[in-house]
Amino acid sequence: MTKPFDIKKWARAEMLALKPYTSARDTFTATEGEWTFLDANENPYPSSVNRYPDPNQAALKNVIASLRGCETNQLLIGNGSDEILDLIFRAFCTPNKDEVLLMPPTYGMYAVLANINGVAISEVPLNEDFQLNTAAILKAVKPNTKALFFCSPNNPSGNLFKENDIKTLLGGFEGVVVIDEAYIDFTSVNSWSTTLNEYPQLIVTQTLSKAFGLAGLRLGIAIARPEIIQLLHNIKPPYNINTLSQQNAIEALKDTKTYQTQIESLIAERKRLDDELRSVAWIKQIFPSDANFLLIRVDDAKKRYTDLLNQHIVVRDRSSQKNCENTLRISVGTPKENDLLIAACKSLQL
Ligand SMILES: *Cc1c(COP(=O)(O)O)cnc(C)c1O
Repeated sequence: MTKPFDIKKWARAEMLALKPYTSARDTFTATEGEWTFLDANENPYPSSVNRYPDPNQAALKNVIASLRGCETNQLLIGNGSDEILDLIFRAFCTPNKDEVLLMPPTYGMYAVLANINGVAISEVPLNEDFQLNTAAILKAVKPNTKALFFCSPNNPSGNLFKENDIKTLLGGFEGVVVIDEAYIDFTSVNSWSTTLNEYPQLIVTQTLSKAFGLAGLRLGIAIARPEIIQLLHNIKPPYNINTLSQQNAIEALKDTKTYQTQIESLIAERKRLDDELRSVAWIKQIFPSDANFLLIRVDDAKKRYTDLLNQHIVVRDRSSQKNCENTLRISVGTPKENDLLIAACKSLQL
C-alpha cells in the first residue's frame, strides 16, 4: 500500500504555483541530422557542445534508474548533491519563517544552505556513540519544522545510523526527511529509497562524487516520490547538468568492473588502515566506519595535523565539530597512499 503525502501542506505555495521556464530543448530532443534546430539561438556550427544539454537528462537517468533499481520519474539529477539539497530548502522552507532540524556532527553544507536560504536551524546533537537521539529529535519538532537532514553513513563520524532509529523518525515526523546516502556504496545495507512506498515524505540523496570517482563532474541524485521530484525539477535551473558531464557519467557507469573493483579495494583498505593504526600510541580511538574514511581521536589534533602536513600528507581536522574534540578525518587512499600514511603515523612519537 502506498501512503499519501500532502505536498500542499509541506511545500511552499509559490513553488507549487510556479510556472517553470520551458526551454527549447524541453520540447524537441531528436538528434541532430533528422531535424533543423533553429529554436534556441545556438551557434549551428557543430562541435561536441554547440547545442544546449538535455534539461531532463533522459539518457543518464535511464542508466542511473537501472543502477539504483528505481523509476526515472523518481529521479532528479543535480549539479552535485549540494544543488539538490539547496533545491529542497527552496521548495519546502519559507525564508525567515521555517526551520530545519540538524544532528551535529554532520555534513557542513546543510547549515550553510539553511543560512543562505534564511532558514532557521535547530540542533539535536548525536549521542556520544554518534547515533541519533530520536526522542530528543521528535521532541524538538515545532509547527514550523519543515525538514530533517542527516547523512547515513554519517560524515564526519563514518557510522551508519540504526535502522530502527531512522524508522522511528520516519514514522514520527510527517515533514520532509532527507537521508543523505553519499557513502551508501561502501556499506552492505539497502538504500532507504527502497522504502518510498511506506514513507512518502522521504528524499534520499546520493552522489557520483565518492564511490563512483566522479567528483569533478558534479553529479548528485535525489530519489523520491514523483510528485516531489516534479516540484524540484520545476525549480531547478533548466540546463543544470552540462553535456560533457552527462556523457562522461554514462560512460563511467557502464564500466561496472572499474568502480566495483575500486569500491572493494577501498573497503579492504579501510579495514587494513583500521588494523594498522590501532598500534599507534598517539591514536586514542578509531571510530567504526561504513564509509571511505576513518575518524580517529588523537592526543593533540592540531599537532598531529601539522606533523602529517610536514610529511606532505593532508588530512582533515574535525575538532571544531560537536563531540569531535581532537579528531582527524582521514580518507582511504590507494594502497600506496595508505602505506605512506601508516608509515608516517608510526614514525611519529607519542
Ligand atoms: C561528499 C558528500 C556529499 C557530496 O556532495 P556532492 O555535491 O554530490 O559532491 C554529500 N553529502 C555528504 C554527507 C558528503 O560527505
